[in-house]
Amino acid sequence: MKYHPDRNPDNPKAEEQFKEAKEAYEMLSDDQKRAAYDQYGHAGVEQGAGAGGFGGAGFGDAFGDIFGDIFGGGARGQRSNVYRGADLRYNMEISLEDAAKGTETKIRIPVQATCETCKGSGARPGTQPTTCTTCAGHGQVRMQQGFFSVQQTCPKCHGGGKMVKDPCPTCSGAGRVKQNKTLSVKIPAGVDEGDRIRLSGEGEAGVNGGPTGDLYVVVHLKEHQIFQREGGNLHCEMPISFSTAALGGEIEVPTLGGSAKMKIPAETQTGGVFRLRGKGIKPLRSSEHGDLMVHVVVETPIKLTSRQKELLREFDESTQADSGKHSPKSKGWLDKAKDFFE
Ligand SMILES: [Zn+2]
Ligand SMILES: [Zn+2]
Repeated sequence: MKYHPDRNPDNPKAEEQFKEAKEAYEMLSDDQKRAAYDQYGHAGVEQGAGAGGFGGAGFGDAFGDIFGDIFGGGARGQRSNVYRGADLRYNMEISLEDAAKGTETKIRIPVQATCETCKGSGARPGTQPTTCTTCAGHGQVRMQQGFFSVQQTCPKCHGGGKMVKDPCPTCSGAGRVKQNKTLSVKIPAGVDEGDRIRLSGEGEAGVNGGPTGDLYVVVHLKEHQIFQREGGNLHCEMPISFSTAALGGEIEVPTLGGSAKMKIPAETQTGGVFRLRGKGIKPLRSSEHGDLMVHVVVETPIKLTSRQKELLREFDESTQADSGKHSPKSKGWLDKAKDFFE
């Protein structure tokens, strides 16, 4: 009655509160609605679904996000104060060569490890932790929120269920200590940008005997001076001389396994792409080697002597006499330009 619109004319805040009170009243007086609310909160009532009327998946996800930490996430079904240790992520930069043939490397990572002094109990050796009086050792307390109660992590013991009167001097009662550990990581041949290598059980220590988390090594490829990678294929740019492009010839191209010879056909243009089969990378989940794609660029000669310039002029005159026959690109371009201007 306090917020009734009749008593609060032109007061939007009171109107809002009145609506809320009305909604609550409706919910309490309707068994089905109330059951839906208890189970799903607002959404259960707003969408008009009865208790259990949800398909499951969508709603489960939402609740997983919101209440995941309260219910212990993956520890569901176990005692609630047992937690799995956190997963760790390590970003590793490797060269393209190492990615192609695989490598083994050592990494140092900081982890929360079980304290050796107290074996994880957090209590000074010789003493025992006592049961938390606030939650009676459950690690969780029920909190009344509106019409329904939620479980929350006990604020006194932070979910552990135990209180330490005389804390361990090494870990100050935490039961875990920060440590650097050195791990050997095998990088399999063919890994690519973003690939993850899972090191099972190398993450952080669990709480109260919970399982240890995993360590994920995430691969990043360093930029290569010559090659760009695209799955199993490698690409590189290769400058060739003007005369090799015109007459054809054999050039030497770099590959990951040393240099290789490649034939350039006569009349090659800039931008031409030549494939060297099997000179790429064998990706992690493939049985086939990729190829090396060589993109040729015709190079303009520089620092010419007067004799060389003379030869080029002579050459130029001889080709111009044939009205564009030797210049396929210019000819095509001129035709387009003509269409455009007309
Ligand atoms: Zn300790
Ligand atoms: Zn407690």
